[in-house]
Amino acid sequence: MTTSGLGYDVHRFIAGRPLILGGVEIPHDRGLDGHSDADVLSHAIADAVLGAIGEQDIGHHFPNTDPGIRGISSLEILEKAANLARARGARINSIDATVIAEAPKIGPHVFPMRERIAGALGMPPARVAVKATTNEGLGSIGRGEGIAAMAVASVELP
Ligand code: MG
Repeated sequence: MTTSGLGYDVHRFIAGRPLILGGVEIPHDRGLDGHSDADVLSHAIADAVLGAIGEQDIGHHFPNTDPGIRGISSLEILEKAANLARARGARINSIDATVIAEAPKIGPHVFPMRERIAGALGMPPARVAVKATTNEGLGSIGRGEGIAAMAVASVELP
C-alpha cells in the first residue's frame, strides 16, 4: 500500500545562531530559533514521514523538553523518523518539500540539502525534491520574521 504524509513547520529568526536548512549551513545574518538546530525543512520532512506511517508527530517523538535534543542536528531526527518507518517494513518512495523564505536565496543550496536529507533518510537524492519560494512580502514570513517549510512523503507500507 502506498501512503502519503504531510509536514509543516515554521521557526522565527533570531540573531546569533547559524542558519541550518536541510542539514546545510547557509550564510545569513541570522539563524532560526529553536530547541534543536531549528532546521525547519528537516522538521517538516520528518513530520511528513511520521504522518505517512501513521505515527504521532515530531513533537511527540522529539519533545522540546528533552535535554538530549538540545542543539542536535535535525538530520538525527530525520534518521530516527526513517528508522521508525523501517521498523514497520516501510520504504520511503519520495519526498517533496518547499521552503518559504524571503531571504536568503535557497536555490544555490538545494543540491547539498537534497544529498544530506537523502543520506539521513537512506534513500537516493534524486527522490528528494527541495523547492523554494518567497511569500511575496505577505504576512510574518513575508516580513522576513522567520522561515516556513512544508513537505509531502510518499511511503510504501507492507
Ligand atoms: Mg520545528
